[in-house]
Amino acid sequence: ADLVQRLENAIETVPNFPHDGIMFRDITPIFLDHLLYADVILNLAEFSRGKVDAVCGIESRGYLFGIAVAVAIGVPFILIRKKGKLPPPFVAEKYDLEYGSAEIEMREGQLKPGQRVLIHDDLLATGGTTEAAARLVQKQGATVSQFSFLIGLRGLQGEQKLAQFDAEIHKILE
Ligand code: 5GP
Repeated sequence: ADLVQRLENAIETVPNFPHDGIMFRDITPIFLDHLLYADVILNLAEFSRGKVDAVCGIESRGYLFGIAVAVAIGVPFILIRKKGKLPPPFVAEKYDLEYGSAEIEMREGQLKPGQRVLIHDDLLATGGTTEAAARLVQKQGATVSQFSFLIGLRGLQGEQKLAQFDAEIHKILE
């Protein structure tokens, strides 16, 4: 079967988690199948090879694939963390959630001005988290060149939200 089909088969959909009405896509079964995991990394690496100077991964599922992609294409990996986890100095970006707000952070100086960046996460929903990550990258004088995800959810306008960055967007499946 092709990669899209194998991924669809592996991902489990859990209704009403973490809240009523949410269909949660659980990606953890991917790690039970090392050949599937390897093919996911190859797919993501092929999209980004030669096109970026650094990979930024979003906590925490973005790390599971982002680090391997960075190693595969031979560029640095930078962690984007939730507030309060990184020692100073760091740069921060606030963003709105459905209720309230959140903040993400990156160690200062790890990203260099002018670098072309891939922002990676496991799943694109509303795009709120990824948009904040992109602003954090731009704040440091770097360029957002690409976004990649294993899964893009349809109907939540995530891609529309990312259009402002004028970067390539790749999802293995929708
Ligand atoms: P957004 O900011 O695009 O609305 O939400 C995307 C973020 O929420 C990502 O960091 C992603 O890991 C997480 N997320 C939201 N829904 C799901 C889901 O159904 N499955 C997984 N694995 N992650 C989700």
